[in-house]
Amino acid sequence: MYVDSHCHLTFDELFQRKEDVLRNMEKVSYAMIMCTNEEEFQRALIYKKEDPKRFKIAWGWHPQDANAITEDHLIKLQKALDQHQLDCLGEIGLDYYWDSSFKERQKELLIRQLHMANQAGLPVSIHMRNATLDTLSILKQHAKTPIIFHCFSGSKETMKECLKMDSMISFAGPITFKNARKNVLCVKECPIDRILSETDSPFLTPVPFRGQKNEPMYVEYVTKKICEIKQLALETVCSQIQRNFLSLF
Ligand SMILES: [Zn+2]
Repeated sequence: MYVDSHCHLTFDELFQRKEDVLRNMEKVSYAMIMCTNEEEFQRALIYKKEDPKRFKIAWGWHPQDANAITEDHLIKLQKALDQHQLDCLGEIGLDYYWDSSFKERQKELLIRQLHMANQAGLPVSIHMRNATLDTLSILKQHAKTPIIFHCFSGSKETMKECLKMDSMISFAGPITFKNARKNVLCVKECPIDRILSETDSPFLTPVPFRGQKNEPMYVEYVTKKICEIKQLALETVCSQIQRNFLSLF
């Protein structure tokens, strides 16, 4: 009944407990596995093989790795696209939070991967941190396929800009945090047919499990928080999010 539109099931801490994690996420009907390198992509194929309807795969070179990404890396990604092994390209984007010393390289990499997604006709999952203006201006120019703003944590004004691009806004654990006033406002204002739910596990565990390792089953708490904010029944929200997700994939 739940949708986790962004989880890192192939990170060591989740992959090593694969059987448990799968058992725990019984109520998650769809999950998008986000891969950040080739090894993770190979692992994601194992999940997808087990349940091709339930698991979708996204792969993209993350902005924080931009300095290390060579032409070879892009060729590998292109190969997966050519073989129709991906459902989405991402997460890609700009992140000036930790290190803004290679902004130009990040932008180049983002534009390059947007063009790859355009050519393949696949949606993109966007990571945008401390880089709103640059990210939105590049997307406006170069993105031609549906956009998912993953773990959205911007302002209401930024969200309005994002929605103008026909995008989906994906909310994660932080909407359940005590100090989440800005995020709560965004959930409230976002049209229900443009909302996705995610965990970004193993990160960002929602309340009441904050502080522990996150996994896809906890998307339940993100979804319930969306219900609470929007004052809608769980069933309504779950089926709408599922429709939103399936409209893209
Ligand atoms: Zn992620």
